[in-house]
Amino acid sequence: MQDSKALASIPLTPANTAPPAPQFPWPKPFTSAMFLSFDVDAESAWTAKDAAHAERLVTMSYGGYEARVGTPKLLELLDQLDLKATFFITGWAVDAHPAMAESILKAGHEIGHHGYHHLLVDPGDPVDEEVDRGLEALKRHLGVVPKGYRAPVGEFTEALRVALVRKGIVYTSSFRDDVRPYRHRLKDGRPGTIELPVTSSYDDWMHGLSNRFSPRSIFPKEHVLSMWKDDLDETRDWGAMVTTVLHPQVSGRPMRLRLLREFLIYAKSCSDLWITTGEAIAANYQNHEAGGSAAAAE
Ligand SMILES: [Zn+2]
Repeated sequence: MQDSKALASIPLTPANTAPPAPQFPWPKPFTSAMFLSFDVDAESAWTAKDAAHAERLVTMSYGGYEARVGTPKLLELLDQLDLKATFFITGWAVDAHPAMAESILKAGHEIGHHGYHHLLVDPGDPVDEEVDRGLEALKRHLGVVPKGYRAPVGEFTEALRVALVRKGIVYTSSFRDDVRPYRHRLKDGRPGTIELPVTSSYDDWMHGLSNRFSPRSIFPKEHVLSMWKDDLDETRDWGAMVTTVLHPQVSGRPMRLRLLREFLIYAKSCSDLWITTGEAIAANYQNHEAGGSAAAAE
């Protein structure tokens, strides 16, 4: 039974008061978009759940796969398909695997912020240290000041939303409440970041990873491909966007990479679909928001 005082404190307003997403067009000749993005958690995906995992070596090896095999194989695939993506990297992964982080940057992909220790934010938690340490690691190793931020474990609080605006983040990509970019509205009414929304259907962790903490069957290519294509094709009909949330420790595995290759080849065959980075989608939004002059000049 829930505490009645706690229930009485729930505001009688939507949690997200942002206005509806504007129907801004995609750059010609495209009429829909795919935000191709990866989350590079490495071992911090595991230590975020329990710092003691640092000494559980097989548990850590799931994350270790990213630097050893997963990320290089994904970079190779993107190069073969001539695609640019956004990689949201934790500060810890940059500190522990600088060569991996440099290889992503060198291949011409966008680098985004994904926390430092991949910590799940809860109401009341301080947010500055995790965000600042992440920014500092990206700057020190890569010389990057990220425009984009994806929340570790996909959770947000108002304090985090406000802090990201203060620290110069342009766009975020964690909310599940739309199929088009929109601009956040902070609780005090000020504009927030541009949101590039996600769905769990494109999160490979859900369908492609089994471990001793969540032992389960993983899904075969046909099953996931059918889901990904259905979501993509319907979204194209809507003139909207999809966002992938892929992890090198999942999609860098042989069977998952084969699935991703097939999906991306299909996506590339859709001539109406703009496959691009978060930075490019956010810039398109900003151009139209500012009156469309820059967009029209493209
Ligand atoms: Zn993550």
